[in-house]
Amino acid sequence: MSTTNLLDLDADALVAWFAERGEKPFRARQVLRWIHRFGETDFDAMTDVAKSLRALLRDTACVRPPVPVSDKLSADGTRKWLMDVGNDNAVETVFIPEATRGTLCISSQAGCALDCAFCSTGKQGFNRNLSAAEIIGQLWLANRLLGAEPNGERIISNVVMMGMGEPLTNFDSVVSALKLMLDDHAYGLSRRRVTVSTAGVVPGIDRLREECPVALAVSLHAPNDVLRDRLVPINRKYPLKELLAACLRYLDRAPRDFITFEYIMLAGINDQDEHLRQLIEIARQVPCKFNLIPFNPFPQSGLRRSAAPVVRRFSQLLNEAGIVTTTRKTRGDDVDAACGQLAGQVMDKTRRTRKPIIPVHEVNQ
Ligand code: SAH
Repeated sequence: MSTTNLLDLDADALVAWFAERGEKPFRARQVLRWIHRFGETDFDAMTDVAKSLRALLRDTACVRPPVPVSDKLSADGTRKWLMDVGNDNAVETVFIPEATRGTLCISSQAGCALDCAFCSTGKQGFNRNLSAAEIIGQLWLANRLLGAEPNGERIISNVVMMGMGEPLTNFDSVVSALKLMLDDHAYGLSRRRVTVSTAGVVPGIDRLREECPVALAVSLHAPNDVLRDRLVPINRKYPLKELLAACLRYLDRAPRDFITFEYIMLAGINDQDEHLRQLIEIARQVPCKFNLIPFNPFPQSGLRRSAAPVVRRFSQLLNEAGIVTTTRKTRGDDVDAACGQLAGQVMDKTRRTRKPIIPVHEVNQ
């Protein structure tokens, strides 16, 4: 008989699953706490749960997180796990410790179908969506493997959906996992500490606004459609005008919030003065902050990182124009854990890896 992996169920789904078995909602919340807050997988150890219910759970359910197949620690403290998600696929999860917070970067898909020019995950092609259990399981497992601070504080204070995959094309599973991250009986993170990063899937942005409005990061990377069509091909489907309108609708819900625009600095491609002017124009339309990202090269990308002084100047001029701008520090590159280096192990269903990769040097718009 097949058992239900309870990691697949958010609080509402668990309450419904319990109700079908004649159990009260508070029982579901008890079990939710055992699983997510205390990391328990053994129903017999859930001591305040009635014996008869424990027996039912033993027979019909399980708590099955992904299995880590490698664990690498970078010199800067960044830690990267490769998680087995079955069928010869593995995805990456990265923990980034900083002085005032600990951020976990999690994956939403095995591979990615979007094929952005600068991203090595895209070059692996797409295999499949991760289940809710495989998504929340990354947080579940990282919490176990990292342990707690001596004072009992959680080590993971922030979660970013910036690993492998496009979260908004795996909407239902991503939202179930997000709801668990926010749930007080599970991880209890505030919605400002949970970030979904999207390449610009406009209908997904609108649905997220309705169903679970967490912090939103948009991978902008180009300030006009001609260039963005090349760098972020989903722009051909949802061009900038539509994307920016969706960002504004998203902020309707939370007027004090802002969108984080991520912008990889690519030498000679999107780092010229005209791009700066166009970016400032965009920032006039949408309340936002900018996060400039030094490009992390990977074999055959055909792209180069902008020189440090160019990035500094961009940042300074954006700040002077009144736009809060930070520059992402590259972390964990000695263990290939930096942004865009997450390749994992993916059985490519699109066979993209067999296609030649076309460099995009001369797209100087
Ligand atoms: N599909 C989502 C989430 C995955 S990408 C999105 O596009 O936002 C997460 C972040 O890593 C994005 O900002 C992406 O642009 C950045 N990234 C991808 N490849 C990179 C590279 N080679 N160097 C630096 N950052 C990269």
